[in-house]
Amino acid sequence: MESSETSKLRAVLFDRDGTLVVDVPYNGDPGKVRPVAGAKAVLDSLRADGMATGVITNQSGIARGLITAEDVAKVNARVEELLGPFDVWEVCPHSEQDGCACRKPAPGMVHSACRKLGISESEAALIGDIGADVGAAEAAGATGVLVPTPVTRTEEVGAARLVAPDLASAVGLLQGTP
Ligand SMILES: [Mg+2]
Ligand SMILES: [Zn+2]
Repeated sequence: MESSETSKLRAVLFDRDGTLVVDVPYNGDPGKVRPVAGAKAVLDSLRADGMATGVITNQSGIARGLITAEDVAKVNARVEELLGPFDVWEVCPHSEQDGCACRKPAPGMVHSACRKLGISESEAALIGDIGADVGAAEAAGATGVLVPTPVTRTEEVGAARLVAPDLASAVGLLQGTP
């Protein structure tokens, strides 16, 4: 019966800042994009396996007037230059006060990415460095994995069901997870 089958993983979505690239708060400068160690190898391996990849990013600097949507697009283009092409991008330009449906931990961007990829949320995972990433994944019905950085809050690490020390381990955890 289909309902008792485990979903096969078909897409791995990533938070951008602090997960794929070193976090530079409200970065509007493509020259400051620095991939996290090992990110390129993990992405290459996923792509070689036929896995869809995507980026799901909160960019409230746009709503706050600190950066423009165009700045973010330039930074995202640089991310792709360094890490290769992603099948889907989702950017929330709103601030927390806007009460939008897309800003993580809301599930809107995960739903939208899955819709664009033509997959169900249970076939997707989202890897990120803070609790809001895991929260968005779980609220959407996807699997969330936390890869903490030194600035990740201890209680968020404690609350996450799946925690990995780096991106390669996170993907390994997902591929071993029913
Ligand atoms: Mg982050
Ligand atoms: Zn939003």
